[in-house]
Amino acid sequence: MLTKLIEQSKVEQFQGWLTQYESYVIVGHIGPDGDAVGSSLGLADLLKTLGKKVQVIMPNEFPEFLGWLAGSQDIIFFNKNTKEATDCIIKADVLCMLDFNTLSRVGGDMASVLEQSKAKKVMIDHHLFPGDHCDITISYTQVPATAELVFRLIYQMGMLDKMTKSSAECIYTGLMTDTGSFTYNSNRKELYTIISLLLDHGIDKDLIYRQVNHTYSEARLRLMGHVLTTMKVYPENIALLTLTDEEQNKFDFIKGDSEGFVNIPLSMKNIVCSCFLKEDKDLGLIKVSLRSVGTFPCNEMAAEFFNGGGHRNASGGEFYGTLDEAIKRLEEAILKFKPLLSA
Ligand code: 5GP
Ligand code: MN
Repeated sequence: MLTKLIEQSKVEQFQGWLTQYESYVIVGHIGPDGDAVGSSLGLADLLKTLGKKVQVIMPNEFPEFLGWLAGSQDIIFFNKNTKEATDCIIKADVLCMLDFNTLSRVGGDMASVLEQSKAKKVMIDHHLFPGDHCDITISYTQVPATAELVFRLIYQMGMLDKMTKSSAECIYTGLMTDTGSFTYNSNRKELYTIISLLLDHGIDKDLIYRQVNHTYSEARLRLMGHVLTTMKVYPENIALLTLTDEEQNKFDFIKGDSEGFVNIPLSMKNIVCSCFLKEDKDLGLIKVSLRSVGTFPCNEMAAEFFNGGGHRNASGGEFYGTLDEAIKRLEEAILKFKPLLSA
């Protein structure tokens, strides 16, 4: 029913590991999102069903709206429990690296632990420019989410009957969050074949939408109002949202409260690109999020001006300096990309 997108030799190699190795660690990228967490937990569930010893480790915390996903409470965070996480990584037979293309995407300390590990390594990811740090590289940039590749791997291994409802929910969450609830990167027909197979596994997609998108606090809504009030719209069809540390304190900010803000300006007519700059006091940097519509390559802007990358329509990066300096940097980027910004 589905084409075999993943090279069968890679599927068979991974399946070979399953007969050989018992202990698996699954890791996602720093600032784990719905796809990093969903694809990791979806794969973890399958491996547990197969009787494997499995531990999911994230570099740092995921947003609260993912806390209902089965298995999310058992995730170890490298930044909080560094020793326990390091021990798990060192002892693992197999390391599964999901939703990131280079080791730098997990943060420096964790990257060196992963690098030193003698485990067999598999990458499952959909970002451009995959590194060569894994024994098996399952990297396909045409899919909108790593969760799709996890689904396809399970499907191509002939193990769909072993997929639980919980695993299907995790995978659906990855698909949904990385496509803005199927509003971008979501025109490939087979995506809906996959969703239909997930529905066969008992997921309630409407409930998942509400659990992810409709569980915010009053403080988040008020913060959203504030951020929109201070939005700047440039004549070059680019909108800028900012959030300082002081504003975060004023609105009792908790992790996840600004999730999705960057998408809001795209609902304005003619806006081609949206930028969200958020002070992160803990990391000592400005986190940059970019979104675009159509052919505008916001990942190129992220790479050239903010030391980042990502997908054509959803990218991000980092800026070391003040918020004002980050805004100036964006304005330089606007000048450079002006010819591509016409609506
Ligand atoms: P978000 O804006 O949701 O944090 O990130 C959107 C996408 O941009 C991510 O899925 C990832 O592909 C990319 N991205 C975000 N931050 C970074 C970064 O610091 N470096 C790189 N290379 N990509 C990033
Ligand atoms: Mn992803």
